[in-house]
Amino acid sequence: MDLQQLVTQIAKDMIARRDRGIVADYIPELASIDPDHFGITIALPDGRIYSAGDSDTRFSIQSVSKLFTLAIALGKLGDRLWQRVGREPSGQPFNSILQLEHEQGIPRNPFINPGALVVTDAILQGHEPREVLGEVLRFIQSAAGDGDIRIDENVARSEAMHGDRNLALAHFMAAHGNFFNPPEKTCGTYFHHCAIEMTCEQLARAGRFLVGGEGAPRLISPASVRRINALMLTCGHYDGSGDFAYRVGLPGKSGVGGGILVIAPGRAAISVWSPGLNAHGNSHLGTLAVEQLARATGWSIFG
Ligand code: GLN
Repeated sequence: MDLQQLVTQIAKDMIARRDRGIVADYIPELASIDPDHFGITIALPDGRIYSAGDSDTRFSIQSVSKLFTLAIALGKLGDRLWQRVGREPSGQPFNSILQLEHEQGIPRNPFINPGALVVTDAILQGHEPREVLGEVLRFIQSAAGDGDIRIDENVARSEAMHGDRNLALAHFMAAHGNFFNPPEKTCGTYFHHCAIEMTCEQLARAGRFLVGGEGAPRLISPASVRRINALMLTCGHYDGSGDFAYRVGLPGKSGVGGGILVIAPGRAAISVWSPGLNAHGNSHLGTLAVEQLARATGWSIFG
C-alpha cells in the first residue's frame, strides 16, 4: 500500500466536503480557529512519516494530552492510580459531573475531565506546576524526537478564565477526599498541559510510544502500552467511543482542538486535525478521515 498516496487522497476527499462540524467556543481562544484546516500524518514505528494537508500547522492538542499524563502517572504510581479513578466508559459528555455524585467522587475513567484532573492531581503531588509541566513536555518531546514542542499560554489563560466547570469538578472530588492539591493549582496545571500545541507530524511521531514495534520509543512498559490502548478504545472518545470503535476499530484519543491520535498497534500512529467537532466533541472530519484510512489499510484490530 502506498501510504503517501493514501493520505493525499484522504486529505483531498475531506477538504472537498462541506460538512465540517462546529469549532469549540467555550475556550474563547479556540473559537477563532479556521474550520477549513485539515491535516493528517501516519508515522511508522521507525519515525518515517507520510503527511498531507496542514500537517505542519500547530494546533491545541487539548484532551489528547491526557494520554501523556496518564502514561506518566502509571509510571509513577502503578496500580495505585486505580484507587482514585476507574476504567469504565462513562457514556456521558467529557465534562459531565453527573456520575461523580453517584460514585463518591471517583471518576469513571482517566480521559473524561474529572478523571484527567485526578491524574494531573496525582502527578502534581509534592511538586510545583512548573516541574510537572516540564516533565510532561519532556516526555512528549522525547516521544516525538523533537524539542520544539511548547505550551500556548494564551490558550491556557483563556481556558483558566472560563474554567468554572473544571473547577467545580475538582472541588466536588475534593469534597469526597479524592483531591490532594488545591483545586486551583491542579486545574491551572491541567489547563496548561491541555494548551500544548503540536503539529500532526509531531503528534503522530509522539504517538509511536504506544505503537511498539521496531524503532518505536520505549518510554513505558509493554503492559502500560497495552492498557492505555485498551482505555483509548473504550473511553478515548467519551460518549462517542462506541461509535468510533465501530467505525474505525482502532484505539484513539480526541481533543476539542479537533485533533485525534489513533494507534494501529505494531503498525503506525496516525494523527489527524480538523477543528470542527461532532455532537460528542470529537473532530467530525477527523473521524471520517481515520475511518477511511482504516478501511483502506485493513488496520482495524478486529481484522
Ligand atoms: N481543556 C479541555 C477541557 O477541560 C479539554 C476537553 C477536551 O479536549 N475534550 O474542557
